[in-house]
Amino acid sequence: KLKAESQYSVIYFCYIKTRGGKNNRFELVTPVTNYRVFLSFRTQCLDASRPWLCFWILHSLELLEEPIPAAVASDVCQFLARCQSPTGGFAGGPGQHAHLAPTYAAVNALCIIGTEEAYNIIDREKLLDFLWSVKQPDGSFVMHVGGEVDVRSAYCAASVASLTNILTPKLFENTTNWILSCQNWEGGLSGVPGLEAHGGYTFCGTAALVILGKEHMLDLKALLRWVVSRQMRFEGGFQGRCNKLVDGCYSFWQAGLLPLLHRALFKEGESELSRQRWMFEQQALQEYILLCCQNPTGGLLDKPGKSRDFYHTCYCLSGLSIAQHFGNVDLHHEIILGREENRLAPTHPVYNICPEKVAQAVQHFLRLPVPDVNKHKNANLLSNCF
Ligand SMILES: [Zn+2]
Repeated sequence: KLKAESQYSVIYFCYIKTRGGKNNRFELVTPVTNYRVFLSFRTQCLDASRPWLCFWILHSLELLEEPIPAAVASDVCQFLARCQSPTGGFAGGPGQHAHLAPTYAAVNALCIIGTEEAYNIIDREKLLDFLWSVKQPDGSFVMHVGGEVDVRSAYCAASVASLTNILTPKLFENTTNWILSCQNWEGGLSGVPGLEAHGGYTFCGTAALVILGKEHMLDLKALLRWVVSRQMRFEGGFQGRCNKLVDGCYSFWQAGLLPLLHRALFKEGESELSRQRWMFEQQALQEYILLCCQNPTGGLLDKPGKSRDFYHTCYCLSGLSIAQHFGNVDLHHEIILGREENRLAPTHPVYNICPEKVAQAVQHFLRLPVPDVNKHKNANLLSNCF
């Protein structure tokens, strides 16, 4: 436990050192002593989310354009290597069972680091074995062997498979139809077919379909209507579900859908699309995050009165980045509320890491062959029998 604390303290401590009074755009700086107290109270419940802590912190730093010292990056790589399961995929901590959520977090964290050392940690052949072990005949995925099915798993699987060049049509057979069956009468997507539409699941399902090139099969207009109705008139932030309170983390899960929808509708030939703005109130979201979601001593949060944490820090910043940057590499329009120092780096709306890190990882892994596909043919035949 102490080791874990020192691991995150290292990242955080370096962060404090690199801030060194440069400017005050985001006061994430907090005394190290407070930080250690914070972790010692919270570490136990995060014991199965340790790759997530790496991702949340590294992604927050890349959005803030803070360089990660090489020694820290290497330490994080070695820690994540210990989280990689002998059966493939990554676990929530060393010695735990592989699980799709920390697998997504670990692969994203390694792609943010983006060094040869980081890329080489991922055992792609074993990762493919793991993805097959959680694939279900109806196209869905369980989160871990013997675990629950929901649409997060399809996104985590599609995200890591596409980044590391192990995505095959066979692995995602029936997945499109299964995800489509999660879109309900509200227009958003639920975790499994038949439940209430929810921001997190809607993002996961839509982003997975974008990766699979099938997002046009959603009812895009109904989805658009649902998501824009989740931005709250008074607060400017987003709620996760109908009749719920605003929450800073949905700044990404909901607002992150708008770039995906913009692109999908553009591909469908929709002619009325703006070339300067997403279809939500970008300034209002920035006001909510900057004015209501910052802890005065550092870090970001759900809503005023709640405590800061690394999850909300990551997703508030990710949502702020979406609200500041319209477009893509070719067409870019920025809307920065307040001082120029408020500007964050852009984030990729599908993977939620910086776009150049996505391009770099894809380029790197494209040079490597897709692991033996035939090996899994029998496994698939077997699973079809159940
Ligand atoms: Zn939240």
